[in-house]
Amino acid sequence: MQSLLDALHSDALNELTSIRQLSDLDSLKTLYLGKKGKLTDILQGLGKVSAEERPRLGQIANTIKTDLLTRLEQKRDELQKQEWAVQLQKEAIDTSLPAHRLAIGKHHPINKTIDDVVDIFTRLGFSVETGPDIESDYYNFEALNIPSDHPARDMHDTFYLNTGYLLRTHTSPVQIRTMEVQQPPVKIIVPGKVYRCDADVSHSPVFHQVEGLYVSKNVTFSQLKGTLEHFLRALFGPEKSVRFRPSYFPFTEPSTEVDVACVNCGGNGCNVCKHTGWLEILGAGLVNRNVLKAVNLDPDVYTGFAFGMGIERIAMLRYGISDIRLFYENDYRFLKQF
Ligand SMILES: [Zn+2]
Repeated sequence: MQSLLDALHSDALNELTSIRQLSDLDSLKTLYLGKKGKLTDILQGLGKVSAEERPRLGQIANTIKTDLLTRLEQKRDELQKQEWAVQLQKEAIDTSLPAHRLAIGKHHPINKTIDDVVDIFTRLGFSVETGPDIESDYYNFEALNIPSDHPARDMHDTFYLNTGYLLRTHTSPVQIRTMEVQQPPVKIIVPGKVYRCDADVSHSPVFHQVEGLYVSKNVTFSQLKGTLEHFLRALFGPEKSVRFRPSYFPFTEPSTEVDVACVNCGGNGCNVCKHTGWLEILGAGLVNRNVLKAVNLDPDVYTGFAFGMGIERIAMLRYGISDIRLFYENDYRFLKQF
């Protein structure tokens, strides 16, 4: 019987050395040490052995079993480590390889300009307001002192909708909407899309404006002037010359158009500034008494200033772009330059 046990021991050890996979290890364990395994088989013959021999053989069987179990576990560790090593190799990352280049989106020059403009005014305490693109005649014209027979309506090239509504021609309706629900002081900046039936290299039927409004007690023209000078120098550079020319808008009185020294020639005269040395940037003025009356504010108590500018024009001047349509083609080769 001892020879059977010894043979089993050496067979098992032989097989163990040739095992390469963890799953085979379990089969081997079952084959030799399982409940119906080879060792159990041999031990069933223990009954036929003399009583004196029995404990000795039992001891030998136990020693073999312990030895095999120990070696099986050693082998399991070994195989496990090999498996991990293979897996690590497979998943290894070569940190010296160049990374994949990600195509990162760019900030559109129009959005960038709007953000820059809005930033300057929010730092002055203006808060951002928005309004609907589809407006009623009342908010777009009537309440802004442009009654239906007013010649200024012809300048607007309005897209009219069937229902008595229209696509807003400027962001100024938001002035009215805000003052209807907010008591002075009102200090707002209004970025948004506006619509006019007009298209060429410097006009688009959809474009962007930023509107500003400050209404309170004792608002003066000199405050408007100081605010706009600060804004234009923050946007175009601290040394920029700024000039105010008298102008006319129905919703402001007095009204002004504001120029900066040409960004291209610095004021000497060139094609960009049509040899005047100046570029018109925005329109502004003190809020017309009729506009204040339209929102039930007493114009003898409250005064205010308003201003508005076209974002495309500012972006074209800032970036030296001569065709407005480039902004809307979404050609990545154009956009990625900003
Ligand atoms: Zn110029």
